[in-house]
Amino acid sequence: MNKTDAVGFKKAGVLIKTSLVDFPGHVSCTVFLHGCNLRCPYCYNTELVTKKIESIEGISTVQDIIDHLEKRKNVLTGFVLSGGEALISPFLEILIKEGRCRGYSIKLDTNGTNPEKLETLLSDPELKPDFIAMDIKTSPKKTGLLLPQLAGSPVIQTLSERIKKTSSILASLPPEMREFRTVLVPPLVSEDDITEMAKLLPKDASWQFAQFRNEDCIDPLYTTISPYTQSEAEALVKKAASLIPGAVLR
Ligand code: SF4
Repeated sequence: MNKTDAVGFKKAGVLIKTSLVDFPGHVSCTVFLHGCNLRCPYCYNTELVTKKIESIEGISTVQDIIDHLEKRKNVLTGFVLSGGEALISPFLEILIKEGRCRGYSIKLDTNGTNPEKLETLLSDPELKPDFIAMDIKTSPKKTGLLLPQLAGSPVIQTLSERIKKTSSILASLPPEMREFRTVLVPPLVSEDDITEMAKLLPKDASWQFAQFRNEDCIDPLYTTISPYTQSEAEALVKKAASLIPGAVLR
């Protein structure tokens, strides 16, 4: 991109300059792109999801991110595009191209609600991510909890179908290109939910579970919910592993 291009001056998201944990097998940088179409009650990225981008401190412009990709291209091997929801960012394509042309492997994190956009990326060799991590947040019957202001409306059924579609798109990819992730939020993930969620996943899925942290949640009520104990979490993941052998607690 030319430095004088207007898009370079646009604010895009929060850049983590070096990460050892966001992209398996890579030392990466990660950009958390602004904006999300969901409002998961436990979300920790409150500012990025709810505030106007102009009012958030520490946001990098597109050009800042490109400059970092250029500066660290001989040190880092991975570039992670996360969010918010990366698939709704107007800067996703340009950033993928800028990373790829500098030799970075590209990882995309998604909440699974944008299957058409994902298919568009996958059909374009310039834009196709090398690795995709999809959140499986809860069972289909609880999708309304992810967008509480629209719970009960037909939009929720559509969202649920879109999440299923994204999961089936990922299932069609080689296992080494994808993983599924679940945060063990007690109201969203019970043993019954795990049984239903497992039906959405390919049998050979890598299914990564993480403990819930009841801090800085979008819905203040969720800060009063206790996470599962370690043994409860382990029991839930054991149940998941009985259905999908690649289930692990990180
Ligand atoms: S947890 Fe992820 S998908 Fe849910 S609101 Fe936050 S950023 Fe969006």
